[in-house]
Amino acid sequence: MADDTATRSLVIAIDGPAAAGKGTIARNVAEVLNLAYLDTGSLYRAVAHAVICADGNPADETDAVTAAKTLDVDAIDPVAIRTREVGAAASLVAAKPAVRAELLETQRRIAKHPPKGKAGVVMDGRDIGTVVCPDADVKLFVTASDDARAHRRWLELKGNTPDLTPQEVLEDLRERDRRDSERAASPLVQAPDATLLDTTNLSIEAAIQAALDIVGRR
Ligand code: C5P
Repeated sequence: MADDTATRSLVIAIDGPAAAGKGTIARNVAEVLNLAYLDTGSLYRAVAHAVICADGNPADETDAVTAAKTLDVDAIDPVAIRTREVGAAASLVAAKPAVRAELLETQRRIAKHPPKGKAGVVMDGRDIGTVVCPDADVKLFVTASDDARAHRRWLELKGNTPDLTPQEVLEDLRERDRRDSERAASPLVQAPDATLLDTTNLSIEAAIQAALDIVGRR
């Protein structure tokens, strides 16, 4: 059997709860290091969005699996999946083991063969370092206080949802984190070999630099 270690792609796994700064950090680390970037939450959001658009029920196994089986990763609408409703529905479809199994292969394929001929990929999500790529070269677990995360997410959402209060966003996040952490299938948990990065008191620039320092040390 051919040994592919010489051509193995570099994988940087960035996990953590909602709105902790994973996406911003992952996107920037990928850009600085000229790697591909995969927001794995967008896959679960796209499945949830497809279920909603088909008038289905995100909590229904058949509806969720049907959407996961027909997901076209290249056709995901980046704006439509960013709503509060889709975020909540994403954590419902993500709790279904059969949905996760469908998306697992897609994620591993991208990790092994990053797009655009890149030498590696930065992936952010909930279970990248634990389940999707347990052999990742670098693992970060990015977190922040509940209040800091809720404030950041509220700033993101209030343009499209002017009546939304920070308290409602905080409740949404806590509910989603609870579902993501307590589900039986690939729960949100820090991998034992992941480095913890708390961004509560860090600017965006400082958080990106801290992540790059961790990657550099590895
Ligand atoms: O990262 P984001 O908040 O966009 O993810 C939306 C939802 O998708 C999460 O709340 C979680 O339920 C699910 N998700 C997951 N595993 C991942 C990425 C996201 O279960 N690797």
